[in-house]
Amino acid sequence: MIIDVHTHAPRFRTRAEAEAAPPPPETGAPMRPDRPDPSRVTWDDHVAAMGPVDRAIVFNIAAQPPGDPHKPGMASDGIVRRTDLAQAVNDNVAGLVRAHPAKLIGFMSVHPRDPHVLDEMDRATGDLGLRGIKLGPNYQNFDPLGDDAARVFARAEELGLPILMHQGTSPVQFADLDWAHPRHLDRIATRFPELRLIIAHFAHPWQVDALAVIRKHPNVWADISALHYRPWSYYTSLRLATEWSVLHKLLFGSDWPVASPQETMDAIPHVNDILEGTRLPRVPVDELLAVVERDALGALGLD
Ligand SMILES: [Zn+2]
Repeated sequence: MIIDVHTHAPRFRTRAEAEAAPPPPETGAPMRPDRPDPSRVTWDDHVAAMGPVDRAIVFNIAAQPPGDPHKPGMASDGIVRRTDLAQAVNDNVAGLVRAHPAKLIGFMSVHPRDPHVLDEMDRATGDLGLRGIKLGPNYQNFDPLGDDAARVFARAEELGLPILMHQGTSPVQFADLDWAHPRHLDRIATRFPELRLIIAHFAHPWQVDALAVIRKHPNVWADISALHYRPWSYYTSLRLATEWSVLHKLLFGSDWPVASPQETMDAIPHVNDILEGTRLPRVPVDELLAVVERDALGALGLD
């Protein structure tokens, strides 16, 4: 069974809705070096892209609550839209999952500084049937080691909700980049050992720090989403993962719409292509292909 643990829910249901919307704000740095960022994708686009996988985890990211004192981490025009707030984000994800219940597993997003955060976690698990949480300390501009975040982690651990955290670099100018550094997850995992955590994107370009964390914590994993289109980073991080014996802690994910599950799978046998003519050590492709078939739902307690 192939599980894509990292896909983003389109905000737009239909093509007409997408085309009527204003253009998205500029973020300053494109997600990928090889093509422009996708925008205005729809629910149908998501479902079509998930054709090659058996199940996909889908989510979006909740903006900061109204009146929050920190600069918005997501919209560079500084406007937090109603559609970006946790309730609307979670309603949208739940709607998409209801349309494709056999394939999709929905994760909520919440904001740790939202005074109603625990109520929204209850609503999203109870009324909406969402089964995990997506957080992005950089996009949401929160301190992962602060008290606000700790109460979300504590409740997630209690409810058995896995958390997928964006980790790694970010184009968001006014959010502290250090808040998305994977070394902090060591302390979180030590304090909440039953909490299942996924380090998104293997925390690129801090994969070496991420592997130090997934190596020591049985319930911390990393996904391989959004890595393959930077061939040197892709190779070096997976070679380091080989040498540190953590290939078995990697989960398959695409980061759709930034990359598709099909291209992420297709890239795996090519991980060593850049070594041609050198004596550099290879990544064992058969072990890496095992990531695609890994029992991610079992690992995350979602089966
Ligand atoms: Zn993502």
